Amino acid sequence: MENCIFCKIVKGEIPSRKIYEDDELLAFHDITPMAPVHFLVIPKKHIRSLMELETEDIALAGRLLHKAQELAKEPGPGGPEGCGENGARFVINAKRDGGQTVDHLHVHVLGGRSLGWPPG
Ligand code: 5GP
Ligand code: ZN
Repeated sequence: MENCIFCKIVKGEIPSRKIYEDDELLAFHDITPMAPVHFLVIPKKHIRSLMELETEDIALAGRLLHKAQELAKEPGPGGPEGCGENGARFVINAKRDGGQTVDHLHVHVLGGRSLGWPPG
């Protein structure tokens, strides 16, 4: 999708600190980390938000979530020891009230410190 920052990252037109890549998924560090561990996992396919997820993308969404937790547990992306022991926060912001600023579906993975709840 033209003018989508994350599609440009997928195509390599915008640099990113990549963590993982396969045919359908990409993970990279967030440019403005909010925690010691903060990376994003996205489908390479342009899906505008979770609320625009189509039935045909249900399996893809499952693999997206599965990869997010797998990477969170890995030392490296999940910090020096991985987040398996202490846990992590998996966030999907959707549309305006959800605080979505990039209109390409992404899962935030945050960890390495205790995170507050509820969100402000
Ligand atoms: P949202 O607010 O849509 O849930 O999250 C978008 C995230 O993308 C933000 O945390 C923001 O820091 C991150 N982001 C925006 N532009 C870029 C970029 O060019 N590179 C990377 N690595 N992250 C970005
Ligand atoms: Zn996109």
